[in-house]
Amino acid sequence: MSLRPAVPTTVATPLPVLGRDVLVPLVTGGEVGYAALDYAASAPALQRVWDDVAAYAPYYGSVHRGAGYLSQLSTDLFEQSRATVAEFLGCRTGDQVIFTRSTTDSLNLLAAAVPDGTSVFVFETEHHASLLPWRDAEVTYLSAPRTPGEAVATLERALDAREPRGTALVCVTGASNVTGELWPVRELAAAAHARGARIVLDAAQLAPHHPVDIAELDVDWVAFSGHKLYAPFGSGVLAGRSDWLLAAEPYLAGGGASRRVARREDGGVDVDWHTTAARHEAGSPNVIGAYAIASACRALAAAGFDQLVEREQALVARVRAGLAEVPEVKVLSLFGDDAPRVGVISFVVEGWNSSHFAAALSAEYGIGVRDGLFCAHPLVRTLLGGAPQEPGECGAPDTALGERSLNAIRVSFGAGTPDEHVERFVGAVRELVADGAKWRYRTEDGRCVPDRDQA
Ligand code: PLP
Repeated sequence: MSLRPAVPTTVATPLPVLGRDVLVPLVTGGEVGYAALDYAASAPALQRVWDDVAAYAPYYGSVHRGAGYLSQLSTDLFEQSRATVAEFLGCRTGDQVIFTRSTTDSLNLLAAAVPDGTSVFVFETEHHASLLPWRDAEVTYLSAPRTPGEAVATLERALDAREPRGTALVCVTGASNVTGELWPVRELAAAAHARGARIVLDAAQLAPHHPVDIAELDVDWVAFSGHKLYAPFGSGVLAGRSDWLLAAEPYLAGGGASRRVARREDGGVDVDWHTTAARHEAGSPNVIGAYAIASACRALAAAGFDQLVEREQALVARVRAGLAEVPEVKVLSLFGDDAPRVGVISFVVEGWNSSHFAAALSAEYGIGVRDGLFCAHPLVRTLLGGAPQEPGECGAPDTALGERSLNAIRVSFGAGTPDEHVERFVGAVRELVADGAKWRYRTEDGRCVPDRDQA
């Protein structure tokens, strides 16, 4: 099946997603359609994905083990899903596509496969999933660059300075989960390769918003999560070069990863591990999760990624223009206002505790955003200008702009977002800042919640 439609459709309307008709209660009375604006955490399932999974579900069977018809059908579907993902990512001959649980799982798998003595280079601005898995390697944390060019120069300097010049791996995010800004992946890959290093792309936030072509970007590996790509069925992907992966011990030891196991005369066991992706997929594979990801890949490709990007960019422009009209709002950015970005925008509001603001957006407008440090603590602290304190009581004004804010608010959206959600969000921000919250809030377990005692 080809992923490139002969005639791309024009995506002037959002792709249908689950939950688009869900009503949620407002503290002020009545109900409103839920505006899911937290795609960066988890995107709603595409209707297409749900329909494909539902159509397959009666045929579900075990993968790679049963003699029965449904088991064989499921095995075929699982392997076809791998091929679909490979095509979606533009994989090269010989690249492996390994189904994992998530981006975090994929990067931990790769971390477990890096050869001994590998030096790892990672920007401190990364999501914790990229920052933390390299526990057995010597890690150099690169300081936050303020332009894409500075990112490349910083990496070049660090790679040039390494002594001895052994194996090296760079881990970089494609799009920031905090600012939505695009990183210069192609240039970083070129810099890494020119210095004999390899590079893995954390595409958790890039893949749902932008085509990712592993060959064109010339990265060695790509990792992403199904639940951010409209396929929330518990699986993710690590794709890329096979050599380190197939030389490494299996990520999990067990059935499925092993080809042959035999007792030795000395009482131990001999194991032949698979020399395919199965080596790192021990246990019963999540065939529904893999199939869901493949379905999402097909649906995005069929919609025409260029059109999806174009529509999302219109939403980005609308949100940014709306926020710019409210002087109390400060949008967080590493690379500056003109930097290209996906539909992920974080901001703080002068005089507001971010948790309070997010709680009011939910309780009074039915809008779901996220507040906090977004599993990228060093980056958010850099952007906010210092270490956060414990959040104060809701309603107690946070700090004034120019001073330190405690944490941030993030709005994020994508292919399933209707214009109305974005308009409601922009209007709600304007109204909350101008008029304040209509309800009283209090802190419960460190989070702001509507005070149920308010009459
Ligand atoms: N990388 C980035 C840039 C992310 O935004 C996230 C999740 O928010 C992850 C990695 C981890 O993804 P997951 O939680 O699906 O493992």
